[in-house]
Formats: sequence, C-alpha cells, structure tokens
Amino acid sequence: MNSIVVHYKELALKGKNRPWFVKLLVRNLRAALADLRVTSIRSVMGRIEIELESDSGWEDVRDRVRRVFGIANFSFAGRASHDFDELASAILADLGDIEPASFRVRARRSDKRFPLTSPQIEREVGGRIKEAKGWHVDLVGAALTIHLEMMPDHAFYYFGKEPGAGGLPSGTGGRVACLLSGGIDSPVAAYRMMRRGCSVLFVHFHSYPILSRASQEKVREIAALLTTYQLRSRLVLVPFGELQQQVLLAVPAELRVVVYRRLMMRIAEKLARSWRARALVTGEVIGQVASQTLENMTSIADATTLEILRPLVGMDKDEITEQAERLGTYAISIIPDQDCCQLFTPRHPATRARREEIERAEGALPIAAMVDAAVAGAAVEEFRFPS
Ligand code: ATP
Ligand code: MG
Repeated sequence: MNSIVVHYKELALKGKNRPWFVKLLVRNLRAALADLRVTSIRSVMGRIEIELESDSGWEDVRDRVRRVFGIANFSFAGRASHDFDELASAILADLGDIEPASFRVRARRSDKRFPLTSPQIEREVGGRIKEAKGWHVDLVGAALTIHLEMMPDHAFYYFGKEPGAGGLPSGTGGRVACLLSGGIDSPVAAYRMMRRGCSVLFVHFHSYPILSRASQEKVREIAALLTTYQLRSRLVLVPFGELQQQVLLAVPAELRVVVYRRLMMRIAEKLARSWRARALVTGEVIGQVASQTLENMTSIADATTLEILRPLVGMDKDEITEQAERLGTYAISIIPDQDCCQLFTPRHPATRARREEIERAEGALPIAAMVDAAVAGAAVEEFRFPS
C-alpha cells in the first residue's frame, strides 16, 4: 500500500467556493509534506490522493496529515484494478495473517457510471475474501471493515480511517492577530481560529528587562508548536514594562489591569492593521478573573475599533485545559513565569471600572506616544514548519 485517500466533509458544503477550498487544502498538504517522501498530491473526484514513494513512509506522513485543517478523515490505502479477482488478491496480500472475528466490505463509487451498484461490488469482493479465508460476514458489528472506493480507472481499498483535524483549510478565513500571553487560554484561542481557516499573527507583551525573559521563551515555544498547524507564523514581541511604569505613576491601583489591557488593544490594533489582519483574538472567558467581567471586557474592547473575537468566551476552565492538553500547549503554559500583568497590580482589581474613571486616568498619560513607542520597539520573529 502506498496511497493515502483524504476525505473532506465540511468543504463539500461550500458551493461555488469549493474548488478554491480544495485548491488551498491541496496546497497546504503539499507544504506540510514538503520534506517527506511523497510522489504526488492531487484532487480527484471529491477526494485527495497522496502517493508515497514507498509504504514505509506512512507513519511520518500520517502525523503531518493529522494537523492539516479541512480534513474529515484519511486512510492508508492500496490501489488495484477494477478486476475483482485482482482486487481481492491485492486486499488479501495486504491483510497479512490477521484473523478478525468477522468482516464486511463497504464499497463507494466515485463515478456512478460504474456498471455494478455498490452492494453488487461488495458481494463480489466479499465473496472472494470469504472463500479464501472462511471468515464470518457481519454487516452490522464487523470486527474488520474493508473499504473500497471505485475510481474511474482503478480501485482504492483500505482497512481503517484516521480522524482528521476538521475545520477549514488554512488561508480560507483571512488574517487575525491573537494576543498570546503564555497562559493556558490564549494558545487554545489561537488554535481555534486557525482551525476555522484563519492565519493567526501572534502578539506577545513582555516586561523584560524588569521581569525575566521566561514569558518570551514560553511564547516562542507555543508559537513553534502552533506553527505545526498553520505552517508559517509571525510572532511580535512587544516591550511593555516601560509603559507599565508610566501607568503605575498615573493610574490608581485598582484600575491598572484595565488600563494595561486597553493599551494592549491599541498596540495590537496597530500591529494587526500593518499586517492587514481584520480582527483581534483573545483568550478571554466571561467571569474567569476580575478583568474578565462583562463590564471590564467592554471597557477593554472600547479601546480598539477592530473586531475582537473571543473563541473561548463561554467555556469552562476544565474544558479549555483539556483542549490545551490535547494540543500540547498545556505543559508549556504551566511553566512558571512572571506575567507582565501581575506587575504593579493589586490582588483585587476593580471588577467594574467606571468609564469616566478610566478616561480620567488615561487623560494623564501620553497614550498615542506610548503606543507608538511600543510598536517601534517590537521585535518580529518568523516560524516555519517543516523547518
Ligand atoms: P491566558 O491564559 O491566555 O493568559 P488568562 O486567563 O490568564 O488568559 P488574562 O491574563 O486576564 O487571562 O488575559 C486575558 C487575555 O488577554 C489573554 O487570553 C490574552 O489574549 C491577553 N493577554 C494577557 N496578557 C497578555 C500578554 N502578556 N501578551 C499578550 N496577550 C496577553
Ligand atoms: Mg494570563
């Protein structure tokens, strides 16, 4: 066996856009597999065929294909002619010496002009396998399902399906900028936007040299991990410590978290616009911490005219944690660091900072100059996968 058959599902619904979605999915698969031993990747009659140089490459290719968005499922497959004797003997050879308690054959025709119906094909091939092996046929609870796909000039067969990453192909959803903190939530928020086809720019605010470099190192690691999904990423590291010291001098303690966040929004907006991103993304969740009450979230959002997307807003912490664990970011996120927002903030910030108070406090600060200085001091790092 040296083929992989890739099925997309949600894509099938996209009407006139469908050829474009499939084209991007093929392009993304090519990029994800660029350094592996793959002969060809092409779209054929509603599925994508990947040809491997040899059957030994399957595991490496599988691990990559699992991360490509827009795939419902995929299978390691063999290829044979339409001749039922040849097809059955190819299947028997690849099954080796397994002894399933029962089996069945499931056939699909990509081309409905094929002279036999799917049940007829199933009976022809199933009968030959039963004759050779003596296995029991079970149409409902079979231990082994042999899948057949009748293509116009050959047949694919496979014995299992790997779940794909779902979502939509990277590049179909436009650009967004995610405020990535190094905590548990924002990497999951970034992933969820990537899975909907968005290209995500990562923006991180750090307080080096007032605090250590730890948060930057964590965020780099998270960016590298997330890049295994979107293949190319840009991380912008924004110096925030000096701004925080300015805020410290001018803003009452209980308002500082909201003022910090509003500054972050303004800076992120500038960076996002220069990258032609259409929205900001955060890992905010209603009620999780003081800065995430509905009142404070609206005050924070008011600092920017860009759309703010909060993919986790209605999730519980344990649901987010579970996703972070599956994604692999959890282990990085829990490495202790000094979060810039704990700097100069009280243990109990205001949960309902009043708009007039915020505006009065900000009135004492050279906001535009602070934003420009942060943008000018930002460092950009590029990530690529496979590197
Ligand atoms: P996270 O786990 O993502 O850090 P959190 O529960 O700690 O979230 P907050 O610290 O209140 O929540 O941050 C809310 C959101 O603000 C984060 O999800 C992130 O999008 C953004 N954010 C906070 N701190 C930073 C930072 N230092 N750099 C970039 N974005 C940040
Ligand atoms: Mg945080």
